[in-house]
Amino acid sequence: MKNKKKFNLSLLNSAQREAVDHLYGPVLILAGAGTGKTRTVISRLVNMLRQGVAASEILAVTFTNKAATEMRERIQQMIPKDKAKEMTVCTFHSLCVRILRKDIERIGYKKNFTIYTASDQVGLVRKLISRHSAKDESLDHNLAISLISRSKNKGLPVSTADGSLIGDVEKSYNKELKLLNAVDFDDLLILAVKLLKDDAIIRNSWRERFKYITVDEFQDTNHKQMELIQLLSGSDQNVCVVGDDDQSIYGWRGAEIKNILEFEQFFRSPKTITLEQNYRSNQAILHTANSSITNNLGRRDKSLWSEIDSKENVRIIAMPGEEEESQFVVDEILEMTATEKRSYEDIAVLFRMNSLSRNFESKLREYKIPYKVIGGQSFFDRREIKDLLAYLSYIKNEDDDINLLRIINNPPRGIGASTVSLAVDKSKELKISLSETLHAPEFISNLSKKGASKINEFIDLIESYRSPMMADQGSFGILFKQLVEEISFVDYLARICKTDSEFQNRRNNIFEFIDSMKEYEARGKKNGLERFLDDIALQQDRDEEDESIGGVSLITLHAAKGLEFQAVYMVGVEEGILPHKRSLEEGTKEEERRLFYVGMTRAMERLTMSYCVNRKKYGEVIRGEPSSFLEELDPTYIDVMSSDEAVGAPLEDGDAQAYFSRMKEMLEES
Ligand code: ATP
Ligand code: MG
Repeated sequence: MKNKKKFNLSLLNSAQREAVDHLYGPVLILAGAGTGKTRTVISRLVNMLRQGVAASEILAVTFTNKAATEMRERIQQMIPKDKAKEMTVCTFHSLCVRILRKDIERIGYKKNFTIYTASDQVGLVRKLISRHSAKDESLDHNLAISLISRSKNKGLPVSTADGSLIGDVEKSYNKELKLLNAVDFDDLLILAVKLLKDDAIIRNSWRERFKYITVDEFQDTNHKQMELIQLLSGSDQNVCVVGDDDQSIYGWRGAEIKNILEFEQFFRSPKTITLEQNYRSNQAILHTANSSITNNLGRRDKSLWSEIDSKENVRIIAMPGEEEESQFVVDEILEMTATEKRSYEDIAVLFRMNSLSRNFESKLREYKIPYKVIGGQSFFDRREIKDLLAYLSYIKNEDDDINLLRIINNPPRGIGASTVSLAVDKSKELKISLSETLHAPEFISNLSKKGASKINEFIDLIESYRSPMMADQGSFGILFKQLVEEISFVDYLARICKTDSEFQNRRNNIFEFIDSMKEYEARGKKNGLERFLDDIALQQDRDEEDESIGGVSLITLHAAKGLEFQAVYMVGVEEGILPHKRSLEEGTKEEERRLFYVGMTRAMERLTMSYCVNRKKYGEVIRGEPSSFLEELDPTYIDVMSSDEAVGAPLEDGDAQAYFSRMKEMLEES
């Protein structure tokens, strides 16, 4: 056990230890930010092993891939790797994929189903909107997707009105997904729950498998996730959930805060443990964060405290504009890493919306500072990668008409739009998939000789790769590289890219993608291609992505939960951004305040919040106002300053009482 940190109960306080020791029956750890919830559940998992529980009987579920990876790594530091590997540590969605890949046939799907990610959904829903809308009708596809998702989770149709556009789109969406042998992220959960509910044999086999269940960040579970946990926990009810009601930030996605606040209604007489000492943030940060969250009404009161002395106050800085804001942050990063021996990984820039990251990205690039974007545009959403994924997806699942349409003439191979639309019509008429239609004599006989031969060439091309790539010991990565060469995909990119740097970029992405496939293949897993595609789809779980190289983290507030950094810059803290404009209309300001709280409580030693007095929006410069959340903060440990002052020496004790007037003054000065 070289280099393994020994399991050590003395690293825990007494309440944490109590949780770690209490292994049987339902346990609820309800505690504030940074109080060691995650550390406690990890120690608890390790303790289970010590007490003789088999690693394979343990299931630990988290929300994001990043959290799951981190948990896995932390466990591996404490126990031998082979044992750690037997434990199932995963996200809700990947748990559902496992359940469904095994038995989905029981509920009428084929085993090789495709997982439709958010961007796949967009493609399908846009197509359906244009199919169903009358001349003067329009419907925003994002709105449609969120309405469909919401109603799916409720088990009710979006609209009961006959012939409404959204109603039609919804019906076709669900029908088409089924025909495509595809499931979206909502389906993963819904279908897994259905399968476990309907089939006692399957349910019991999973209950046998996982006798101990742990869920971190439980405040963000929705109704279906709660149901899944209930179905999985057998009569022993060895379920431990961990969370903080003040950090519930997924209400908009259907999270039910009552899952944690009323846990006793779902699991009988749980052992409840609260933790109060925060080990992450210094007193200035914790005090300031607490002074914000107490403005929320429906919450359990907590008294969090920290023993960590603060060397500096929290700073609120008024920036003239976005350029100055990003320049300031980058200058400080350079300075901190040079003089304070902090590394880039210790620093994070947090923002409410993805679009705010762009300035910081270009500035960091300019100064050659490594960074990673978490929650930004996914690698897999890039066009060239989506094209390649479409090939793979269609190779794996020939019912996947959407991906077939994406690649049938991409790169162009002489299959014209009219041929394609003829095929689509024929497939509807014959009620068969597009793929089958391409083989059907009724279709082929309508084509010109040349048209028919182009279709045949395409079919032959795909079929020549399909079975070798799907074969268990198949070398799907090497074969795919061959396919990409055979269709001259890179040459095609060279023709369509507008600039050379765009081409270089896209080409590199392709190489990177193929390399990652080959690496995956080298692990020699069964059903390699299928698992490769599953992993990619699951990584695109809505708003997170981690390219897992080191560097400064640029990260959305939503994706930041559970993480911690020595220095945190929360940028763009303006009214209308945080709280988000929409939340004011929708009455979800408290959720925005929780998001603000999550952001502040990520910081260990240094917290800097900034807002821009002028901000560019749609090419116009608009005036920014500091967020009303800033005005609510207790000024005791806060310095308010202009960016010029921040660059110079820190303010003397920043006259706390003059806090508001100071902030207003600064607005007027600029
Ligand atoms: P969040 O609410 O943000 O998810 P959390 O409650 O899960 O936070 P952790 O991330 O587990 O908190 O812990 C916060 C920090 O405090 C970590 O750096 C952890 O190592 C440290 N910590 C937790 N418990 C102790 C302890 N008993 N002694 C020293 N450090 C601790
Ligand atoms: Mg945590």
